[in-house]
Amino acid sequence: MKKNVRRSSTLILSLLFLSGIVGAKESPEAKAARIHKSVLTIDTHCDTPLNLTRDGFDAGIRNDMAATGTKSDFPRMKEGGLDAQFYAVFVAQGPRTPEGDADAKQKALDIYAAIQKSVSANPGLAAVALTPDDAYNLKKDGKRAIFIGLENGYALANDITMVKKYYDMGVRYITLCHTSNNDICDSSTDKKKGAEHHGLSPFGKEVIAEMNKTGMMIDVSHISDESLMDVLRLSKVPIIASHSCARAICDNPRNLTDDDLKALAKNGGVIQMCFLSDYVKKPDPNPERDSALAVVRKKYNDFLDLSDEKSREARKEYRETGRKYPNKLATVKDMVDHIDHIVKVIGIDYVGIGTDFDGGGDLSGCRDVSQMGNVTLELVKRGYSEKEIRKIWGGNFMRVFREVQKSASL
Ligand SMILES: [Zn+2]
Repeated sequence: MKKNVRRSSTLILSLLFLSGIVGAKESPEAKAARIHKSVLTIDTHCDTPLNLTRDGFDAGIRNDMAATGTKSDFPRMKEGGLDAQFYAVFVAQGPRTPEGDADAKQKALDIYAAIQKSVSANPGLAAVALTPDDAYNLKKDGKRAIFIGLENGYALANDITMVKKYYDMGVRYITLCHTSNNDICDSSTDKKKGAEHHGLSPFGKEVIAEMNKTGMMIDVSHISDESLMDVLRLSKVPIIASHSCARAICDNPRNLTDDDLKALAKNGGVIQMCFLSDYVKKPDPNPERDSALAVVRKKYNDFLDLSDEKSREARKEYRETGRKYPNKLATVKDMVDHIDHIVKVIGIDYVGIGTDFDGGGDLSGCRDVSQMGNVTLELVKRGYSEKEIRKIWGGNFMRVFREVQKSASL
């Protein structure tokens, strides 16, 4: 009897060993693949809608990156195990006049319509999501969750009632400004004007209160340090930086200082790593590239106040010039250095991923959404646990998203 028990337990152990449950150590690749598949993965910022408004791009088919230069579509999201993505309704800063405002609002509505059209044309692949639960449910159904964010509060057109209107349409965050100051706040990169309001304008303060009330997340990417401190002082709920990195690792005004990070953690917010190479790692000097790009910028008035047609032409020429004089791309490892730093300074609960794909995001090792698994592999190699990776890939962001929605009163 005893002998039989011993024999059968030996048999069970050998079977477990053969099936890899006991004994064989899981390789980092296998571990990363398993974790990547099981956690909800969300990228909180991409500019793929810029492609949707261009003729000939279909997010429902697999577009070749080398041939098209595009970084995301539904099939490639699936291939890369990316469950959810925030599509940015991006409006470049134009004239701060009633006409400019009206034009910005119209542009936002047009891009919004293009997103809805593209997603609804592919009901088997993706759906527009409005809540964190939507994303988890769509993952179960094997579909991609597409959230909508508005990049540049300029498109509020100085009308406070637009916050609730955009929210009711499905927009879930507003990036307060872009590369120049607007009527809401100062930007971190307005070379012409510098600090203008020294933080939020009086209208900007109203916008913060209204966003809190409606349950609209406040995105502080692009805004100046002074603007950030104003937002943190006024917002009653946690905020997000949808696509920014750590300034201590890469000195760029688009990134957050350690003091910013500490204030963000105190507020309970989250910072999502941007894959734009220049924000991840300071590029080596490349004077040929700098002067060629400066010529294009000058030719197109620093990309300000352009007609739609001119703006498209400018973007194309800038992209082509950049390709002609390429910089060495920062790597996935360089990007994870930012995560390591942030975790060291404020802990694991305040960091996530927001690529800026199709808006400049591009890393060696993760050039489009089909390669997202490489991020998880690097995190595994650095010793991050499954629980920690779950937080980085979406848990932290969804915590903020839920808190902001829960405290809405409108
Ligand atoms: Zn941006």
